[in-house]
Amino acid sequence: MDISMNLQQMYAGLGISPAVLERGEAALRRLRPRFEEIDAVAEYNQAKVLSAMQENKVDAACFAATTGYGYNDVGREKLEKVYAHVFHTEAALVRPQITCGTHALAVALSANLLPGDELLSPVGMPYDTLQEVIGIRPSPCSLAECGVSYRQVDLLPDGSFDFEGIRSAISSKTKLITIQRSKGYDTRPSFSVEQIGTLIAFCKSVKPDVICMVDNCYGEFVELSEPSDAGADMVVGSLIKNPGGGLAPVGGYICGTEQCVQRCAYRLSAPGLGQEVGANLGLLPALFQGFFLAPTVTAGALKGAIFAAALYEEFGFRCIPGANAGRHDIIQAVELGSKAAMVAFCKGIQAAAPVDSYVTPVPWAMPGYDSDVIMAAGAFVQGSSIELSADGPIRPPYAVYFQGGLTWYHAKTGILMSLQKMADAGLVQL
Ligand SMILES: *Cc1c(COP(=O)(O)O)cnc(C)c1O
Repeated sequence: MDISMNLQQMYAGLGISPAVLERGEAALRRLRPRFEEIDAVAEYNQAKVLSAMQENKVDAACFAATTGYGYNDVGREKLEKVYAHVFHTEAALVRPQITCGTHALAVALSANLLPGDELLSPVGMPYDTLQEVIGIRPSPCSLAECGVSYRQVDLLPDGSFDFEGIRSAISSKTKLITIQRSKGYDTRPSFSVEQIGTLIAFCKSVKPDVICMVDNCYGEFVELSEPSDAGADMVVGSLIKNPGGGLAPVGGYICGTEQCVQRCAYRLSAPGLGQEVGANLGLLPALFQGFFLAPTVTAGALKGAIFAAALYEEFGFRCIPGANAGRHDIIQAVELGSKAAMVAFCKGIQAAAPVDSYVTPVPWAMPGYDSDVIMAAGAFVQGSSIELSADGPIRPPYAVYFQGGLTWYHAKTGILMSLQKMADAGLVQL
């Protein structure tokens, strides 16, 4: 039997009609050259990670579990060296004790800001959960409560940096500048490593000793270099996004200068203890292997993002970035224009999942977010957004943020299923 006939039947068994599949195949034919570019970046980054593991002589001894204090944890120390090697930084803190990306960012900020210091965001409003960390929305233990002030310079209407506004916002109090690479729940563009480098160079030309931190969530391995190659003093992210490769069950990382990272370690554990404690609890095989797989997994997620943009643009939905735009993270926003369409889209992603495919996502209030959020995810690691997932706050422009896919084929299935649910609900005409 013909392979495409077989495949059509297999997709039909999953609930995807031949008409939806055909629209998908048409979109895909145009994307082949883009896919080749993505594969070339993945190949480069695979070699980068491989070389870091070889140079640091990763061996079976690195996979041993430690408990209790975790003194002399050889594996943990090697993992941090491997991260530092890949990010080209002096030091790294990579731990299961860092519970998520927000925690990693909160540690990096609170470790390096003291009462009287000012934090500056030159790229507009930070990611939702950071607003409570900073104290933009009041919270116990926020930086604001500890006497750290905050200033923000918004992007210009065309999404570019407001250099003059930034120059005048930097003062003698400005201690740390936080730059979010990915758009998060916003519809601004995400920034390239090169753009981030330009921004950092500008900030340091105004104030040479200012610390520049990049929230690198969703950006790892999308390009050939990382923000730490472009002058960042700290890059911070979550292990249940790109660098965990889908295998890390928990964790976060902070890579940066010895001085910044050491302070982060003291903040994470305790002054005096720092990086010396923190048992690995048997998680190191997953953290090493996940990092090894991360360039390939990220490439699959990127293909899914571009495919979603190409497909949904055909139906007239605004996609950010557009199908033909360069990519700086794995997030794809699709402005669906209504709550009903957000629900249908998310139902499709959920129905295509390997785990929890039978549940129906509904909008709900979430801690850290100021409006109801809908989330679709059927992940092996709960909440993992390197696995195929879609979410978004229920507020105009009713954009879903689609990301992940441990394999390209699964991402493709999920996107086709989302279109199927939209069609079933009468929200698109095939
Ligand atoms: C996901 C994300 C965070 C926070 O990460 P969590 O692991 O969800 O706490 C911060 N910033 C950006 C840009 C993100 O995408």
